[in-house]
Amino acid sequence: MSEESKKKDKKPRQAMPEQAPEIRRRNFEEVPLGYTPELAITEADRCLQCKNPGCVKGCPVGVDIPGFIKLICEKKYTEAIRHIWTQNALPAVCGRVCPQEIQCEGECILAKKGAPVAIGNLERFAADYERLHGTGALPPVQAPTGKKVAVVGSGPSGLTVAGDLIQKGHAVTVLEAFHKPGGVLVYGIPEFRLPKAIVAQEVNFLERLGVKVECNAVVGRTVSLDELFDEGYDAIYIGVGAGLPRFMNIPGENLVGILSANEYLTRANLMKAYRFPEYDTPIPRGKDVVVLGAGNVAMDSARTAMRLGANRVRIVYRRSRDEMPARTAEIHHAEEEGIEFFLLTNPVRYIGNEKGRLTGMECIQMELGEPDDSGRRRPIPKKGSEFKMECDLVIVAVGSGANPLLTTSTPELGLNKRGYIIADPETGKTTKKGVWAGGDIVTGAATVILAMGAGRKAANSIHKYLTMGW
Ligand SMILES: Cc1cc2nc3c(=O)[nH]c(=O)nc-3n(C[C@H](O)[C@H](O)[C@H](O)COP(=O)(O)OP(=O)(O)OC[C@H]3O[C@@H](n4cnc5c(N)ncnc54)[C@H](O)[C@@H]3O)c2cc1C
Ligand code: SF4
Repeated sequence: MSEESKKKDKKPRQAMPEQAPEIRRRNFEEVPLGYTPELAITEADRCLQCKNPGCVKGCPVGVDIPGFIKLICEKKYTEAIRHIWTQNALPAVCGRVCPQEIQCEGECILAKKGAPVAIGNLERFAADYERLHGTGALPPVQAPTGKKVAVVGSGPSGLTVAGDLIQKGHAVTVLEAFHKPGGVLVYGIPEFRLPKAIVAQEVNFLERLGVKVECNAVVGRTVSLDELFDEGYDAIYIGVGAGLPRFMNIPGENLVGILSANEYLTRANLMKAYRFPEYDTPIPRGKDVVVLGAGNVAMDSARTAMRLGANRVRIVYRRSRDEMPARTAEIHHAEEEGIEFFLLTNPVRYIGNEKGRLTGMECIQMELGEPDDSGRRRPIPKKGSEFKMECDLVIVAVGSGANPLLTTSTPELGLNKRGYIIADPETGKTTKKGVWAGGDIVTGAATVILAMGAGRKAANSIHKYLTMGW
């Protein structure tokens, strides 16, 4: 390492200012406040501009990270965002919610000895700077090819396909079942982690490039894939996600006061229940809330319940802290906001009163055995350790399944035994000619950037098909 590199290595990583936990636990405003230009430049200057950068290899969409960081160092913020856009249509989203710690930042050379460059924070800075002060200039779009592509679902995978193909000159229409585009980014991830105005801004960027977005279009119900081909589409991409709620299947599940995280978060976020009385979407506001599960969905549900006025919010998870699937930063934020963790604990039945309302749960303590198929240690119930826990609202966040609406109406699409679409991992091609698929509907619930990576591969394959054939 050169002397210059050693000096940079020693500079501390710049923390992002945040709302104080005791204030933010009762409001829906964004928690991290973003870098100032001064903080961004100081952080960007830590980057060693590696010749063979690990960070780029760690990014599923291959953003030229040292390239955009260098532009920030030179105060060329507009150029930085234009450079990112050529590889990533959703930088403000990725800068906020990507699991950077296990992707680009996990592969940054500085992570070997200390703190990696805060790549996510810098990406967010470049995108936010453009939104607040930018010129509105767009990246170049190639001449129209005359080919039409339909993208079903407007989550991160669908939006990536749309962004890539519009830039290659194809006409793209995104068909979305909900009344707003964005997928989980609008109906799942809460406002305090990803403001909806940010998602709307990134969708608007695609619309300014020429992408058409049609909401309230439930493909498989309002129109079939074959009808889309008849309407003149040359190729179809399916990115319908994995939004089917899963429950625990234990006694008492029909009591009033138990609902899926999917429904809870959709009511709170997309249908704006938290802005009562401006929006009159009903939502149960429990005082003593239990959330089952320990992924990002569970953390988002618990933190939403706290913001909706709960006195106490507990996360109940059958494994230990080391196996919790949520991002480290989100677990830390939840703890700071007063969420309690009951680990190595599993519910065995729900308890209700004579009116059919939930009053509590019976749980059992667990211990960890040998690793299971998922590679995580298998939780085993401890005999005789049952105990009761009072609560008036349970939010079930133990995973989700394949959304069956489109797939059941299209029998030619090959599905695996769990109902996910079978698609070639390198191209996204399905068993139906002219149809590609990617994101959670192929892999099962995963991450924003993996859904985007699948979208990128499929877009390249669709482009080849439109120019060279299947
Ligand atoms: C609460 C929550 C928090 C999360 N937090 C994170 C995080 O912090 N970081 C991270 O990386 N990942 C996170 N994830 C996971 C991530 O959001 C998903 O992996 C990602 O959104 C999957 O993208 P997708 O494009 O495959 O599908 P989705 O985002 O699910 O989008 C699919 C879209 O298709 C639409 N659709 C479905 N059926 C049809 C149809 N028949 N016709 C038309 N449209 C249809 C749906 O309405 C939806 O808008 C989180 C998920 C949840 C639920
Ligand atoms: S690996 Fe880290 S230091 Fe090297 S170019 Fe990437 S961000 Fe910069």
